[in-house]
Amino acid sequence: GSVLEIRDLHVSVGEGDDAKEILRGVDLTVRAGETHAIMGPNGSGKSTLAYSIAGHPKYTITGGTVTLDGEDVLAMTVDERARAGLFLAMQYPVEVPGVSVSNFLRTAATAITGEAPKLRTWVKDVRTEMTALEMDSAFAERNVNEGFSGGEKKRHEILQMRLLKPKMAILDETDSGLDVDALRVVSEGVNRAKADSPVGVLLITHYTRILKYIKPDFVHVFVAGRVVDEGGPELAQKLEDQGYAAYVKDSNEQA
Ligand code: ADP
Ligand code: MG
Ligand code: MG
Repeated sequence: GSVLEIRDLHVSVGEGDDAKEILRGVDLTVRAGETHAIMGPNGSGKSTLAYSIAGHPKYTITGGTVTLDGEDVLAMTVDERARAGLFLAMQYPVEVPGVSVSNFLRTAATAITGEAPKLRTWVKDVRTEMTALEMDSAFAERNVNEGFSGGEKKRHEILQMRLLKPKMAILDETDSGLDVDALRVVSEGVNRAKADSPVGVLLITHYTRILKYIKPDFVHVFVAGRVVDEGGPELAQKLEDQGYAAYVKDSNEQA
């Protein structure tokens, strides 16, 4: 199976004198079929990790490696990362004027696999998944991200994941801004993906609530730009009960 390996990753934002190190040596290994939760306080660098793996130009890699099945992810263009099987919802533009959800998904699927999906099964697959995500069929004809609500954005993210069938999916704050019903629907989409193929999932979140629906195999506590603790699902419960205060204090004492 596939394996995503992050080794001693250091990442900065900003230029020259304003440059600030955000990731300070991240180590993480995600294997096919595993779900890893990354949990940490706001501002700890969780999104920076996701953007860095996605290849966002604002983030400068100053050290370390990211590989997928031994291939150097950091040397790949954003498109190459997608073709290699990485799914990073945030790699796509915020709005895509004049491009419908339906065309966008088909174009993305074609780019990733190198051939256009067969139209009949494609239309059926899109419909089936939209129904499962409790999305109105009219949604397929809307322009990508134009006026999407928070819940629609997250559903669209999972719709992409379901149709593009990545080897590794990085989901950043998929639970943010969702009510309980939407959270359940979106989580079930991720669980369908996990049931269909041994996808590796990196689930980044500030809250434990999504972990009641998507069961992590491993939980990593992320504070001040690095992983400071790791454990099984029971660690999420500990964080729920105790918060991050103890970890933040330790990290301040080290700094
Ligand atoms: P999290 O997702 O854990 O809340 P972020 O990765 O969004 O954390 O942010 C980590 C730190 O990096 C914060 O201090 C934030 O202000 C800073 N940061 C993130 N992105 C940028 C950016 N593009 N420019 C400047 N600072 C940034
Ligand atoms: Mg944040
Ligand atoms: Mg974030």
